[in-house]
Amino acid sequence: MSVGPRREGSGNGSPKVDESRRNLLKAMAVGAGAAALTSVAAVDKEKFKKALRKVSIEDLLGVPADVEAGSTLEMRAKKKEKELKEWCRKEAEKICQERGDASEDCKLARQKCDLITVKATPAKKGVRYAMALDVNKCIGCRRCVYACVMENNQARNLGIEWIRVLELDRMEFQDLLGSEWYYGNEAPKKENVYVPIACMHCENPPCVMVCPVKATWKEPDGIVVVDYDVCIGCRYCATACPYGARRFNWAKPYVPVQELNPNMHILGNVPRQVHVMEKCTWCIQRTRDGGVPACVEACPVGARVFGDLNDPNSPIRRIAEEYGLFVLKPEAGTKPRFFYFFGPSRTPPREEAKSEGKEVKENA
Ligand code: SF4
Ligand code: SF4
Repeated sequence: MSVGPRREGSGNGSPKVDESRRNLLKAMAVGAGAAALTSVAAVDKEKFKKALRKVSIEDLLGVPADVEAGSTLEMRAKKKEKELKEWCRKEAEKICQERGDASEDCKLARQKCDLITVKATPAKKGVRYAMALDVNKCIGCRRCVYACVMENNQARNLGIEWIRVLELDRMEFQDLLGSEWYYGNEAPKKENVYVPIACMHCENPPCVMVCPVKATWKEPDGIVVVDYDVCIGCRYCATACPYGARRFNWAKPYVPVQELNPNMHILGNVPRQVHVMEKCTWCIQRTRDGGVPACVEACPVGARVFGDLNDPNSPIRRIAEEYGLFVLKPEAGTKPRFFYFFGPSRTPPREEAKSEGKEVKENA
């Protein structure tokens, strides 16, 4: 949205101000007359300055004061790394005083502080990431959820989990988003299927469009990120996301330093502050270094596939060709880059038929 006078190129280098705007300015000048102009001229600038605050370019662009103007992501990452190391060492000393220098917790905490690295690794050229989940394979064990919490330094005190695993009735596979996502430890149950959900890293992300301060955007490799130092916590993005993928830090997040993952990315798993939004980043700290997300690595049945859509030899392309890829809520027009597919069925057809109440001849 333009807030200044609309200007059109004049061809001779001087911008041409829109005619109606010009007329308005003219009317103001004539109508208000010399008196108004005189009164403006009479204002004591110094007194005025005391009453008002000069607006900086950062204010205009919606960047908070603590994000220094002109600082690159790399510079901010290095600064963050230094701050985190200092904070971590203070926390570690508290633990060591409490439990003794020889305690495992003390040693672990000190070790973690030395290892902290905050990267700002940019997207690789020509790469377009995607993930797919085999609905026939997932056993609902939630190991992906736990691996994600640990890998991404998610608050242990707020119940923030970037992945939800929905438990659905095998026979009534419809109301996905209204379905159950907290369940006991009995999975997998024969009568259920399990559908993990997290950020879909959409091609048309509505969360990005509504952010008033440009704190969230889609990277060239397809990862939708949040800049925690810019986020003002308005939560518009959480409302806009059709998949309920965003998580808000309602209170100060707490992660014990002994459990910190020291391999961090400034737009990913760096510890968050209170009142900022977060969500899955496909483990940007791993994937941009050539690894796979923690959920993919942790899945005991290989239900998750991650890769580069632009690479014809990537596992994700093979799955697309072999089984076809499906998206959740296509009517939202978001074009998710997290897909579902139906690999070879985990349930033998006879068992499946029995669970459906069909008659099966035992000797057949
Ligand atoms: S809460 Fe979401 S919409 Fe609001 S500033 Fe943060 S990222 Fe942007
Ligand atoms: S770890 Fe694998 S099998 Fe377990 S819930 Fe996650 S995707 Fe499903």
